[in-house]
Amino acid sequence: MFKVIKLKTILITAAALVLAAVIVLCCFLGARKSKTATVFSPLPKKTVVIDAGHGGADPGVTGIRTGVKESDLNLKTALVLGEIFLSAGYHPVQTRKTEESTVEGTFDKSADMEARREVIKRFAPDAVISLHMNKYPDASRRGVQVFYTTDASKDLAERLQKHLNQTMNVPTLNREFEPICGDYYIADNESIPSVIIECAFLSNPIDEALITNADYRLRLASEIQVAVARYLTEKQ
Ligand SMILES: [Zn+2]
Repeated sequence: MFKVIKLKTILITAAALVLAAVIVLCCFLGARKSKTATVFSPLPKKTVVIDAGHGGADPGVTGIRTGVKESDLNLKTALVLGEIFLSAGYHPVQTRKTEESTVEGTFDKSADMEARREVIKRFAPDAVISLHMNKYPDASRRGVQVFYTTDASKDLAERLQKHLNQTMNVPTLNREFEPICGDYYIADNESIPSVIIECAFLSNPIDEALITNADYRLRLASEIQVAVARYLTEKQ
């Protein structure tokens, strides 16, 4: 009996010692891990200017079915896109954050456009994304289309359009767009890759219904962010 008790005591003591050793080892490894985390220093944040087109006395185009203002939809899409960039570790800068125009006082289109360009100049971003809604005489026209102006923007425009074709245009419309090059003031930023995205055709009732839906805007904004982030990462 005594021997059995002694053996049991030895076994319990040995088990306790092993457990204690495991706890000490775990604490040590945990401390090492947290130490590694504290010395981690992130890369400098990349800045993306997000430009919600129109605003204030300039509503842009309006929806064929509900009369929704382009300026409202541009702003809502821009704000959610900014949130996504922020949570992905980027520094998003909005040219406007409210329904008001970019400049105060009596609305002046050229002063408004100049104020947006000033934001771009001030922050010298890694990319500029201007958001708009489209309109076309043929009401059947639908989809997401990318525009650009400079050679420095061509690669971003092509990659972005390709991604939006794969994720947004082909699944719903079974059609692809090519990015369109033209003389667009907000996209003419020398060496800064700059694109205009016409998110939907407000002259089409289905596109209008989609883009007035918050879930659809979140999906579109997520796909825009994925493509721009991939471009900026690969360009490094
Ligand atoms: Zn517009």
